[in-house]
Amino acid sequence: MKRKGLKKQGGCSWVEIDKEVHFFYGGDNSHPETDKIHRVLKEAERKMKEELGYVCRVSFAMHDVEDESKEANLRMHSEKLAIGLWLVCGGMERKGEAIRVYKNLRVCGDCHEFIKGVSKVLGMVLVVRDANRFHRLNGFT
Ligand SMILES: [Zn+2]
Repeated sequence: MKRKGLKKQGGCSWVEIDKEVHFFYGGDNSHPETDKIHRVLKEAERKMKEELGYVCRVSFAMHDVEDESKEANLRMHSEKLAIGLWLVCGGMERKGEAIRVYKNLRVCGDCHEFIKGVSKVLGMVLVVRDANRFHRLNGFT
């Protein structure tokens, strides 16, 4: 593991799209599609709020910031960015495919809810492998 020690906080997720692996760190804005990623994530979140009453669970985020930026902060978790990129790259049109996202640390409670919501509102299968287990979400559970 050459990447070890590269970033101290170390939350890192990756997703493979068309044989290319994209890495994201929490709060990472360096990906060229960052703007689009935030747009699709916001859109997915809006759908989830309407259809499922999903509320971003700010308690998982930092406590010393305004609510609005707490939400923004949660939106920046690396696994969400990875999912966002997949959606940006036409993921919504590939409903038959399961999306696979990997994370080196544990997926937090909010991200788990978010991923579950995304699989429901978009009717997709999402498989997230984190440090602890597989989260397999098929939109029905
Ligand atoms: Zn998270």
